[in-house]
Amino acid sequence: MRTAVVKSHHWRRPTAAHWRFGLSVLLATGALVLSPPPACARDAVTLQLKWTHCFQFAGYYAAQEQGYYREAGLDVRLEEGLPGIDVVGRVVSGQADYGIGTSSLLLARAAGKPVVALAVILQHSPLVLIARQRQAAQSIHDLAGKRVMVEPDADEILAYLKREGIPPERLIQIDHSFEIQDLIDGRVDALTAYLSNEPELLDRLHVPYQMYTPRSAGIDFYADNLFTSERELHAHPERVRAFRAASLRGWEYALTHPDEIIELILTKYAGRDTREHYVFEAAQLRPLIRADLIEIGYMNPGRWAHMAETYAEIGLLPANVSLDGFLYDPSPAVDLSGLYLILAAVLGFTGIVGGVTVYIYRVNRRLRHSLSDLQQANGRLAVLSTAIENSPTSVVITGPDTLIQYVNPAFVTVTGYSVAEAVGQTPRILRSGLTEPTTFREMWSHLKRGEPWSGELINRRKSGEVYWEEAHVAPIKDRAGQTTHYVAVKLDITERKQAHQQLDYLAHHDALTHLPNRLLFFERVAQTLALAKRNQTKFALLFIDLDKFKPINDTHGHAVGDLVLRETAKRLSGCVRESDTVGRIGGDEFVVLLPHVGGAEHATIVANKIRQALRQPLTVAETTLFISSSIGIAIYPEHGHDQLALTAHADGAIYAAKASGRDRIQVAAVGNPASTPLNHPSAESAIEPPYPDR
Ligand code: GH3
Ligand code: MG
Repeated sequence: MRTAVVKSHHWRRPTAAHWRFGLSVLLATGALVLSPPPACARDAVTLQLKWTHCFQFAGYYAAQEQGYYREAGLDVRLEEGLPGIDVVGRVVSGQADYGIGTSSLLLARAAGKPVVALAVILQHSPLVLIARQRQAAQSIHDLAGKRVMVEPDADEILAYLKREGIPPERLIQIDHSFEIQDLIDGRVDALTAYLSNEPELLDRLHVPYQMYTPRSAGIDFYADNLFTSERELHAHPERVRAFRAASLRGWEYALTHPDEIIELILTKYAGRDTREHYVFEAAQLRPLIRADLIEIGYMNPGRWAHMAETYAEIGLLPANVSLDGFLYDPSPAVDLSGLYLILAAVLGFTGIVGGVTVYIYRVNRRLRHSLSDLQQANGRLAVLSTAIENSPTSVVITGPDTLIQYVNPAFVTVTGYSVAEAVGQTPRILRSGLTEPTTFREMWSHLKRGEPWSGELINRRKSGEVYWEEAHVAPIKDRAGQTTHYVAVKLDITERKQAHQQLDYLAHHDALTHLPNRLLFFERVAQTLALAKRNQTKFALLFIDLDKFKPINDTHGHAVGDLVLRETAKRLSGCVRESDTVGRIGGDEFVVLLPHVGGAEHATIVANKIRQALRQPLTVAETTLFISSSIGIAIYPEHGHDQLALTAHADGAIYAAKASGRDRIQVAAVGNPASTPLNHPSAESAIEPPYPDR
């Protein structure tokens, strides 16, 4: 729950033993006034948090626990915030020295409150509007005229509503109770919330909700900004620098050791929520911090100016408000003017010193250029990060250990895994076992060589559904050539694949009977021929043509003829083995490939089975029909060493079977297929039908 209770704080004061030790040392040296202060005398400062203890302040806990503040000569008290607390007021009035604020710091500054922004922790604000899900199609416009709880400093939400054409006066604005139960029980229709907090609570309670983010209207604010007062900055510039640096160092530690910080929140800071909640929070905040792309703490003056413009748009700030003095510059350009003067004077004496001056000037200019390049690069990175977030293709970034560090929203949509479920896992969670192992081997051999790889993967969604992906994976290296990340961009190509497969099926199968067509059948004959040649084995080709089929069409209609052809296909398939192939190559012409036969006798046995099966009475459209077939057999290698010779022989044999009265089986004659004797009495026997006249 987003409630807060102020807790006692555990912060370290110097103990009596420390003081006693310090005093005795000072007395012993006899230099009470001139001596440096004892090692334990550190500057005591307070950081006012804007919320109760949670992962949102992970970096500060880390700076405290890792001793970064101590090393910086600071004794920092982390003051927990009650909901609705006036952090700016506390810092400006001196009750606290530092604070965590929203982008409303801009408004405070414009209102004459001397706040100075030191660092930005969240490059994108987690502030959202959450409404109960009442109907399937629900939009932000449904909030007009509704009761909405808006927390203080939630101006970006008001700007968002205004951009959506909902001015604040069209809402019934209620002070925020910070009780999610008010939404659940319907006392309000929507409330402002943190992406990293309330959604998990609602999910846990199975309450359906709808989330609206200002980013969807192009309002992209900074959040969780570390700030101080001008008073602190002017009186203790070095302390500000040290506090900022130690805090950011703490953040770097916290982001690489999230589990450790969660443990700390639970044990030391009396975190009120479950471990699962903080794990969720950490996972949600990571993509908003973007430490993978943007140096933690970095502030882009251009983005602050853009936020000021957004405020001006909703009438909260005048246009073109000055940011002078508002943005802290952690590395101010060195003011060399004094130095230039002295050098100019010395220049009169010696040209060498003049040379040095020019040199220093150039270095300074180059540094300034690099700094501006760096700022531009950071701006570009911010644009890139927004593009990735909104990309319709999945993007996954892993560390060198292949553990997932980032997934974009498209990944969540395609796979069904949430960010929290994916981060920390390996992409293996998507494995279906259906991708060829060689594909993965090939991928890794590319990546290990430092080359990108593209290919197709068969993966499995969280729902269990299998899908096709076109994947492009590239290793990212640091200057030393070490792989620091792998980036995968993937496109769901399941529909394309299915369409291909369908086309492929249509190209190779007969639409009426679904048997292999001429193309596919003779592809298989070609494969069988190659194998038989290599292994010196025999195979048989059976050509089967229905007898007097045309009259069936003529008498009963084409539709009945079609049903007969389908039934014939079914019976043929029932007479052969899995390894055999049955095909339809023309009107009433079927073919069978027996890839392993001992000889003509063996093929004749199968042919007879077929002939008998086709002779069974067949009832279609309440009409019983009697059909027979004529079958021609060609054997490799007796009747030819290539496809052409073998088919010519099988064709000749069927012609002979027809000519000698139909309903019979004819093995081809060895030699010229065209000269196949009719009713050949020899070994290439025609099997006479024990068949009554119909
Ligand atoms: P024979 O004993 O000499 O084989 O005589 P037949 O009447 O079976 O003659 P033939 O095999 O030459 O003719 C096959 C007939 O099959 C010709 C055509 O009308 C018919 N036919 C071809 N394709 C289809 C089809 O897709 N559906 C139907 N119902 N009939 C077809
Ligand atoms: Mg026929």
